Amino acid sequence: MNFLITGAAGFLGSSLANHLAREGHQVRGLDDLSTGDPQALAPDVHFTRGDVNDRPKLWTLLQDVDVVYHLAARVSVQESILYPRDYNAANVGGTVSLMEAIRDVGVKRVVLASSGAVYGDLGDSTLIETAPPNPRSPYAVSKLAAEYYVRTIGGLWGIETVCLRIFNAYGPGQHLPPSHPPVVPHYLRQAQRGGTLVAHGDGNQTRDYIYVDDAVSAMVAACTAPNINGSVINVGSGVETSIKDLVRVVLDVTHSRANVVYNAQTSGGVSRMRADLNLAKEKLRFQPSIKLEDGLRLTIQRDARFK
Ligand code: NAD
Repeated sequence: MNFLITGAAGFLGSSLANHLAREGHQVRGLDDLSTGDPQALAPDVHFTRGDVNDRPKLWTLLQDVDVVYHLAARVSVQESILYPRDYNAANVGGTVSLMEAIRDVGVKRVVLASSGAVYGDLGDSTLIETAPPNPRSPYAVSKLAAEYYVRTIGGLWGIETVCLRIFNAYGPGQHLPPSHPPVVPHYLRQAQRGGTLVAHGDGNQTRDYIYVDDAVSAMVAACTAPNINGSVINVGSGVETSIKDLVRVVLDVTHSRANVVYNAQTSGGVSRMRADLNLAKEKLRFQPSIKLEDGLRLTIQRDARFK
């Protein structure tokens, strides 16, 4: 098959692109390299640098494409609170530009990488797709708006759409910015360096951590699964892990005795998150297979930054 992946030089995009190329598919990747690294891509992925708002470029890249994976986005919850306009332009504007170009050229299916963040704080740990979303950050709003644009424009023009609400993905190659880094690679690095692991709040808040290979399996399944047009589907591990437990496992797998500080003055964010996976199992035959301990060990083995 022929694929276009936006955000292809990013953490999830590069893993997906390399996986599809290894399977013998034709893969084109687009990324503006605002955070992505084209070196992460295998040589047989055809990479183009560009903005997802650049429709003429999209018209060219979309020729003969069967499925588009839309991953290009700004991805930090905390940064989105400071720069909501930028998040709206990239995540919402970029999605609308892409859908317009897809309408113009004609593509069979679009798979959007949405986020478990759209649920916000629902008080119940098991988040099911039928729950009313309650986004708590501009990032979460932008992903929810992107879902609606993808489904609505897709419905109007006969383009099949699938929105995957990915929970907290982690693994080798995850971007580690100096400010507001994602918690898993940040803790791994702090533990390896003997730094301090700082947890916000009391550490009892929970998240659903999914290893990158499991997230890629779900994305791959979404490109050919039948009868899923218009679906919104959770992609997580189905396991709820508190920050306290994450700290314990990180210290264990790194054999580190780093200090741990719980900062009661800062909010831990959404209190509980766990993906209900019944729909993913039914529609995508999705079965996550990598436990947190194993995923963290694989991350250390495969990512030179944690050696
Ligand atoms: P990432 O930052 O590594 O990847 C995003 C990529 O998009 C980057 O390479 C960046 O350079 C590119 N990009 C940003 N703005 C762009 C633009 N205007 N035009 C073209 N490219 C642009 O992040 P990731 O973790 O790989 O996330 C990929 C997608 O998955 C995002 O849409 C994100 O919202 C979604 N997602 C990720 C997670 C997670 O835990 N990693 C969870 C839920 C959803």
